[in-house]
Amino acid sequence: MTHVITSLCLRDNGCSDVCPVESIQPGNTAQWPTYYIDASTCIDCGACVPECPFHAIYPEDEVPAAFKAKGGEFINEAGLTGHYEAANHHGQKIVLETTRALTAGEVLDLRGSIKTNTQFFK
Ligand code: SF4
Repeated sequence: MTHVITSLCLRDNGCSDVCPVESIQPGNTAQWPTYYIDASTCIDCGACVPECPFHAIYPEDEVPAAFKAKGGEFINEAGLTGHYEAANHHGQKIVLETTRALTAGEVLDLRGSIKTNTQFFK
């Protein structure tokens, strides 16, 4: 198994700092706007999970099929056009143009991120 970074990722970067095997790689393009976990090297230690302020990382078999938004979260995916900016874990400015704000009660299937993570490393 592996862990998976879902589209709730807003590039905080704290996760990649703690990964003991350097499995977490930044995408940083319009096609690949989040961070991604290499399933071929991830040892499933779980260290990255609590580091994410957006709760974007899950074990593969626990990625939510029905994630219920509190409201105010963002998803970050290729093809979206919303603007987002903030400071990351290191205080560096992050600007994303591939986001959409979620509304309270909105329900999302985040399992598409499993395939996206796999495709990134092909
Ligand atoms: S679960 Fe552990 S090995 Fe896998 S990406 Fe997260 S920190 Fe790295």
